[in-house]
Amino acid sequence: MENSSSNNRFRSTVFNHDDEDQDKEYVGFATLPNQVHRKSVKKGFDFTLMVAGESGLGKSTLVNSLFLTDLYKDRKLLNAEERITQTVEITKHTVDIEEKGVKLKLTIVDTPGFGDAVNNTECWKSVADYIDQQFEQYFRDESGLNRKNIQDNRVHCCLYFISPFGHGLRPLDVEFMKALHEKVNIVPVLAKADTLTPSEVKKKKIKIREEIEQYGIKIYQFPDCDSDEDEEFKQQDLELKESIPFAVIGSNTVVEAKGKRVRGRLYPWGIVEVENSAHCDFVKLRNMLVRTHMQDLKDVTRETHYENYRAQCIQSMTRMVVKERNRNKLTRESGTDFPIPVVSGVTDNETEKLIREKDEEVRHANHEPESHYQHDHDHEHEPEHNTDHNECSESPANPETHSDQLVDEAL
Ligand code: GDP
Repeated sequence: MENSSSNNRFRSTVFNHDDEDQDKEYVGFATLPNQVHRKSVKKGFDFTLMVAGESGLGKSTLVNSLFLTDLYKDRKLLNAEERITQTVEITKHTVDIEEKGVKLKLTIVDTPGFGDAVNNTECWKSVADYIDQQFEQYFRDESGLNRKNIQDNRVHCCLYFISPFGHGLRPLDVEFMKALHEKVNIVPVLAKADTLTPSEVKKKKIKIREEIEQYGIKIYQFPDCDSDEDEEFKQQDLELKESIPFAVIGSNTVVEAKGKRVRGRLYPWGIVEVENSAHCDFVKLRNMLVRTHMQDLKDVTRETHYENYRAQCIQSMTRMVVKERNRNKLTRESGTDFPIPVVSGVTDNETEKLIREKDEEVRHANHEPESHYQHDHDHEHEPEHNTDHNECSESPANPETHSDQLVDEAL
């Protein structure tokens, strides 16, 4: 048994809290968490947050309040006339924040113009396209030759702002969330909660939760906490789940309340404090986003949403190759020679089997019933201009050349 003095020293620092472990031979992998920690701190962290919802609901004010920065210095507000035909624009602001030596590159993706025009049909489309484009870019980068230093612009969370003035969700809210819930982690927030009384907030939250359920909207699900967690943690977790949609208040100003300077809104009848949990859920939301669930939001983005996109992309590329090959067979038989890429050694049946297996895998990851992806197969023999906008080949950024290149890369 090797028992060098340095090993012993290490053992005493790592295991001094546990007598049983003292008797075991020390190999050293107990330091792995420290190694990972050091490496990640050195590398820094990144997080991309999207804010969406009708303009004027307080998105920019909330983002500034959340991260204590002024991210919207150069914002240009449009007048009513300009907004009539306004299309949804996507803007990106990036800030580097540092706290106790930990660096965070925070990217805020805003969607000015959303819900602003007279006709808002499909105004969620450019937002969905933006998210797909980021997935596509990542897919290209990780399938490319140089996979070092890939810039990850995938959207990890979308705060969706719900108006406090309606009776629950509006059709646009339902449409938006349904169009995006399989692409991004949606966290709904009830905007400008200071315009509602506490009982109104309570009723609205219940109504919105019911409607989310009724319309089959899949918002971000907080992971269940482990059974061995302490009671306090379990209680916090329960409160967090019951806070959905988070009732938020934003403010860009600091006011004086009970002798203290706080971020708040000053009214003739008093002050609402952004960070007072008796006034709103701002602190809960910030803790969730920054302190407790940032990594989970990133994991779900990578393991579920991106994986979905990737699987669909590979499926549509494989189908294209099969179709091309069949077409090639026909043209060859008719005497024309047309070189196209063929997946060597894979028969049609084998390809279909692979596709089915991938479908199954995706369904498992999503815990979805079997029928969901059946839809995709049903459209297999449709003309090539597929209208399912989840499909990689339908990607907005130059679709034809992109899918061609991706097939090449995949081959
Ligand atoms: P955006 O267009 O969604 O980014 O909205 P802004 O952040 O520009 O806010 C629009 C207006 O609403 C501004 O006058 C803000 O001062 C005000 N506002 C922002 N947050 C709140 C809030 O929580 N409560 C109230 N009552 N007003 C707010």
